[in-house]
Amino acid sequence: MQDIMENIEYVMLSKEQIQSKVQEMAALLNEKYVGKNPVFIGVLKGVFMFFADMVREITVPCEVDFMCISSYRGTESSGQSVVKKDVSVDLKGRHVVILEDIYDTGNSLDFTYRYLLSKEPASLEVCTLLDKPERRKPGITLVPEYVGFTIPNEFVVGYGLDFNEHYRNLPFVGVLKPEAYAK
Ligand code: 5GP
Ligand code: MG
Repeated sequence: MQDIMENIEYVMLSKEQIQSKVQEMAALLNEKYVGKNPVFIGVLKGVFMFFADMVREITVPCEVDFMCISSYRGTESSGQSVVKKDVSVDLKGRHVVILEDIYDTGNSLDFTYRYLLSKEPASLEVCTLLDKPERRKPGITLVPEYVGFTIPNEFVVGYGLDFNEHYRNLPFVGVLKPEAYAK
C-alpha cells in the first residue's frame, strides 16, 4: 500500500501552526477591511487550501474570485507569465487582496500584482502564506503586506503546494525525501 507520508522527510509547518497563523492574518484583514467589501483573489492552484481557510476566518462582507497564470518555469531565466484564467469580478474601484501560497523568485506574484493593478482597483494588497526571500530574483521589489512564514530555501509541498501535482492534499507544509524526486 502506498502512502504519501512515506515520502515526507520532515514537517516544516504543522497543521496547528498554519491554522493559528491563518487566524492571525485574517484578524488583520478583518480590521483593515471593515466597510470596504474587499475582493479576495486566489492564484490557483497552489493557494486553494490557504484561500479556503483564510476566507472562513473573514468576518467582513467580501467577495472571492480566482485567477490562474502559467509561468514557464522550465526556462527559469525568462520568468514569463500568461493569464490562463482571468478574474470575473470587475475590479475597478474595488479593494482587492491577492492571496498567494508562496513568494519564491517573485515572478508570478510580481506579474499578478501588475496585472491586477492594470484593472484600476481602489487598493491592492498582497497576502502570502510563505515567503522564501533567498530565492528572490533581482529587480523584484514587491513587499507583501501580510506574510505568514518566512522559510529557508527548500522546496516544500503540502497545504496546496505540489510536486508534479501530488502532495497538495497534505494538511501541513513539509519537505520531501530526496528519493521522492526520483519516482
Ligand atoms: P515564483 O517563483 O514565481 O515566486 O513562484 C511561482 C510558483 O512556483 C508558486 O506560486 C508555486 O506554485 C511554485 N513554487 C515556488 N516555490 C515552491 C516550493 O517550494 N514548493 C512548491 N511546491 N511550489 C513552489
Ligand atoms: Mg501560487
